[in-house]
Amino acid sequence: MARRDYDLFVIGGGSGGVRAARVTAGLGKRVGIAEEYRFGGTCVIRGCVPKKLFVYASQFPEHFADAAGYGWTVPEATFDWPTLVANKDREIARLEGLYQTGVERSGGDTFRSRATLVDRHTVLLEAEGREVTADHILIAVGNRPSPHEALPGHELCITSNEAFHLERLPKAIAIAGGGYIAVEFANIFHGLGVETHLVYRGKEILSRFDMDVRRALHAAMEKKGIAIHCERIFHGIERGADGRLTAHLSDGGTLVVDEVMLALGRIPNTEGLGLEAAGVELAPNGAVVVDDYSRSSVDNIWAVGDVTDRVQLTPVAIHEAMCFVDTVFRSKPTKPDHDCIPTAVFSQPEIGTVGLSEDEAARRHEALDIYRAEFRPMRNTLAGRDERMLLKIVVDAATRRVLGVHVLGPDAGELAQVLGIAVKAGLTKDDFDRTMALHPTAAEELVTMYQPSYRVRRGERVS
Ligand code: NDP
Repeated sequence: MARRDYDLFVIGGGSGGVRAARVTAGLGKRVGIAEEYRFGGTCVIRGCVPKKLFVYASQFPEHFADAAGYGWTVPEATFDWPTLVANKDREIARLEGLYQTGVERSGGDTFRSRATLVDRHTVLLEAEGREVTADHILIAVGNRPSPHEALPGHELCITSNEAFHLERLPKAIAIAGGGYIAVEFANIFHGLGVETHLVYRGKEILSRFDMDVRRALHAAMEKKGIAIHCERIFHGIERGADGRLTAHLSDGGTLVVDEVMLALGRIPNTEGLGLEAAGVELAPNGAVVVDDYSRSSVDNIWAVGDVTDRVQLTPVAIHEAMCFVDTVFRSKPTKPDHDCIPTAVFSQPEIGTVGLSEDEAARRHEALDIYRAEFRPMRNTLAGRDERMLLKIVVDAATRRVLGVHVLGPDAGELAQVLGIAVKAGLTKDDFDRTMALHPTAAEELVTMYQPSYRVRRGERVS
């Protein structure tokens, strides 16, 4: 049989695909990778990276206000949205270049083309009108915001994709959803001076997080002036004669705004890829079904990242890609480890968390000790800001093992990254207690909470 063109062909140039292509090419394998839009994928082009730049931009008004208490007089500040968008675009273009050249420098071929499967070993590069063959194919095409077509007027709405390129900053915005994207963008727009409404179907925002942190963030956001409408959904969106949008809510209320943004989850980008014809099983939501090693139902076709709908986070896609390379090209079968993933919500204040929430821990463990501290960080004192910080440690009372740590406050994401090491290592509360405090920091509270704030026994709070 003739030798195929590539050892590996990757469809999708995001975090997972680029990592797999670059590392495999670095092993001396023949690798091709196709990307139909821009190398870097969601994270770099219209996700984590531009989002974080927008978060920084939106924090300045509070910094300016806080400066007064420290003796600074800051002249009235003005903000220029087109400058932010242009500077962000320049940085994204730089990163995009690094992603593509990284693969090329390792010896891989990159294609700016949509790629679809012709059969289990053949890929059509549509922009070039030719086919290439490969021993292994990796599907790393990611996902995209759900357009929520059931909503009348959904075509008038934007998603996070468009939010990064709005020509004008809206005066008022209504955002649907209570997850990461909705909450982060609500804080970004509010920080940039936009009247902001968050409309969420559940009782409390951020359903996957610890309840204490959810409630405290909700309160802090409302105090800043973000209107949070829980237990409501949009029933329809209309454009008025003046160009503004009216969002009709399920409780009969209306919001008149300049933009409506939908952040109601994401859907895998698998339509029209030729996967079904090649025999690849898809889940009802379109995600590629994979085994523990990221192998699809066709044994030479693999998938990593958001398209598999396991955990939709960049570092997870990268980790899955590295495990794939170990399994297929280093003869070291390796299952991705999805346990105990630190995560942050870049809200204001920020959430950083690792391990189990109190409620989840109570479902799995009979006895918990909860250590909880809430205080005003030192930086806020002279600033005259009464925003508080929350630290919470969830401990298995039987083994003293730390099951989860939850932080709301400045640099919570940075803390969660480091705390992730301790929780992943299975450290106990006694290990935390033996650690010297570092003074004066906010994080020192993490090692100076010697007595439980309360106990939970069989799901009930007892003291
Ligand atoms: P999420 O899953 O976080 O949130 C989706 C939200 O939409 C939830 O509040 C959900 O409600 C709500 N929702 C879903 N369907 C409906 C519906 N039919 N009607 C009303 N509300 C609905 O998704 P996002 O889109 O915010 O983010 C996608 C993923 O991207 C996240 O899962 C996360 O992994 C990743 N991400 C990570 C970030 C980070 O690490 N900082 C930042 C941004 C995204 P309910 O909770 O009740 O189900």
